[in-house]
Amino acid sequence: MAAQAFVTLATNDSYAKGAMVVGKSLRNHKTSKKLVALIGPHVSDPCQSVLKKIFDEVRIVNVLDSGDTAHLAMMKRPDLGVTFTKLHCWTLTHYSKCVFMDADTLVVSNIDELFDREELSAAPDPGWPDCFNSGVFVFRPSMETYGKLLQYCTEHGSFDGGDQGVLNGFFNDWATADITKHLPFIYNLSSIAIYTYLPAFKQFGSNAKVVHFLGKTKPWSYTFDPKSRQIKGDVQEAATHPTFLLDWWILYSSTVVPMLHEHFGEQPFHSGCVEASGQPLLASAESLASSAERKQLWEQGQADYMGVDSFENIQRKLDAFLNM
Ligand code: UDP
Ligand code: MN
Repeated sequence: MAAQAFVTLATNDSYAKGAMVVGKSLRNHKTSKKLVALIGPHVSDPCQSVLKKIFDEVRIVNVLDSGDTAHLAMMKRPDLGVTFTKLHCWTLTHYSKCVFMDADTLVVSNIDELFDREELSAAPDPGWPDCFNSGVFVFRPSMETYGKLLQYCTEHGSFDGGDQGVLNGFFNDWATADITKHLPFIYNLSSIAIYTYLPAFKQFGSNAKVVHFLGKTKPWSYTFDPKSRQIKGDVQEAATHPTFLLDWWILYSSTVVPMLHEHFGEQPFHSGCVEASGQPLLASAESLASSAERKQLWEQGQADYMGVDSFENIQRKLDAFLNM
């Protein structure tokens, strides 16, 4: 049987940071599958080098250069650039089955069991649950399917302007045909759901397996103070559960940033880590204690995330991570 792989995508250095965290989080949870990163030609060389360290395969996808049907489709629908790049995952035919993960996801437990599912399996979208969210989905690479998807894309476009609209149009019986293709929501838990159905989040949130930071503000849009272990940014804009966001930053700053430093060398780059403080506090290490405490703190509001022993807590969390 051909190998199976997790696949992610990054067309620029910002999303590449996310892809690195996705890869690292899969490795930390001991996946037995291959890891593939599809990247656009604009991802910088140092970022490509770091991705190559984390992923088994890093493939540059340049739709404009490809000269194939994707190129033609792109000429007709230049608005769907990133979408065409994402659809390229169907060309990975040296794998029998794959799980696509958006670059703005974070894996919080082993999810290899997703490979028991069939194409096209995905979790409901929190905004319109008769559609699936295309941030996490199981698929079977196939040139035939790839061709059909491109054709569908060129003829019908995307009702939401992105890949999710195209994929829901193409796999349009997802909502009704086969319940085994409905992944539990914990495989694609988006922050939006936390706010729109807080009691359900309190009940089920601790079972989360994949967190998805969907929406405008991505984890890398914030800044992080490694000394105080605090995330800074516009609190009003924070559409994300603070502890998951902090998990993202701890993994990123402790394992990805050192690799970036190594590969960028003297070249300047934006790590997102700052030393200065004074901006609004969003979350601190205090929130990392335990899931029960987390819930409680969350319910109490953000002011309680500041704690005198926050450094000890984060240290414990880091030690646990490294000893896994
Ligand atoms: N993406 C990318 N570059 C972009 C926009 C998107 O590489 O400029 C990829 C990336 O893998 C990202 C996915 O496409 O996770 C979907 O976009 P995004 O996550 O921003 O959409 P959302 O989940 O917020 O709807
Ligand atoms: Mn996303």
